Amino acid sequence: MPAPNSRRARAAKRRTRRVAASGSDLTEAEWFRILDAWQRCAYCGADGVALQKDCVLPISRGGRYTLENVVPACRSCNASKCNDEVTGWMRRKRLDEATFLLFWAQTCAIFRRADA
Ligand SMILES: [Zn+2]
Repeated sequence: MPAPNSRRARAAKRRTRRVAASGSDLTEAEWFRILDAWQRCAYCGADGVALQKDCVLPISRGGRYTLENVVPACRSCNASKCNDEVTGWMRRKRLDEATFLLFWAQTCAIFRRADA
């Protein structure tokens, strides 16, 4: 850890603020933790496919790239969900909304415990 007022610490703080302002403050390490927890598309359960970052609460609705708001989604779910509200979209697509919400709550609890 650099001293609190060192040049490196100040630069790190500036960087943190800049990234937070851009709304994409998810680190690569956090994305891997998310992938590790889900290991498949959060919405349709597809595995063995390329997974993309999807904001459960879309950016356009006030969501942000955080450990708890980002889930892995396959290309087809990601493109289809787009800016839709997640539960309404899942119901329309006849996806398993209950399983998604349960698993999402569990992963959020795991992340919170790990960071506590
Ligand atoms: Zn999917």
